Amino acid sequence: MAYVFASDLHLSCENPEKTALFESFLTRTAKSAEALFLLGDVFEIWLGDDDDSDPHPQIIAALRQFANSGAHLFVMRGNRDFLFGPQFADATGATLLPDWHTIDLFGVPTLLTHGDLLCTKDVQYQEFRKYVRDPANQKSFLACTLDERRKIAANTRSGTQASMLEKDEVIMDVEQTTVDRIMSESKVDQLIHGHTHRAASHQFKSETGIARERHVLGDWYELGSVIVAGSNGLNRLAAADLAEAPDSVFV
Ligand code: MN
Repeated sequence: MAYVFASDLHLSCENPEKTALFESFLTRTAKSAEALFLLGDVFEIWLGDDDDSDPHPQIIAALRQFANSGAHLFVMRGNRDFLFGPQFADATGATLLPDWHTIDLFGVPTLLTHGDLLCTKDVQYQEFRKYVRDPANQKSFLACTLDERRKIAANTRSGTQASMLEKDEVIMDVEQTTVDRIMSESKVDQLIHGHTHRAASHQFKSETGIARERHVLGDWYELGSVIVAGSNGLNRLAAADLAEAPDSVFV
């Protein structure tokens, strides 16, 4: 029994090899793991649940096949695919997770999040996030036809609605005081997130001296960063190497 974590795949039509890698990753994970957690930015852009741009239909079919295999599929929204909604969940068989979600990871309470909410030094981004996560703003954006939304996406800097899709050019790192505060509030000493593309595992002490761990998933621009959590702890793998990974990784 193992849980697999990945984030920041940024799948798009520009990189069919990555889509193929993700499909074989799903097949291998379905065979070996109990659950897969995709912690946001699965897609480079998601304009709404009717967004059938390449490679979205292909990935939805692959996710559905994964969920049908019996493994649990959990998906969190990232800053690129924050418009995932109930139709996406229905189509894939995924359970959509809220922005903060605590699980019991082999006896260790573990907080999961995409990671953008931890980057509190980036005030401009947090303002932008508030705007695009506002249900009224989302409603009016989704009321546009898919063609209109595509036009807005292609011309991101023209007008207010355009800022729904403004790209994050520089991703700041997390703010440590925010990490510590959120972990205390969530009553966890282990955190897994993505977003910053700074793959690493950090061990640190809280202000009151409690040992804590923060595991950052990497992006899929090269090999595809994956964390496999089993009763033997957390293992970091490249998606490309997962097929050859020993079964002991999935214990
Ligand atoms: Mn992100």
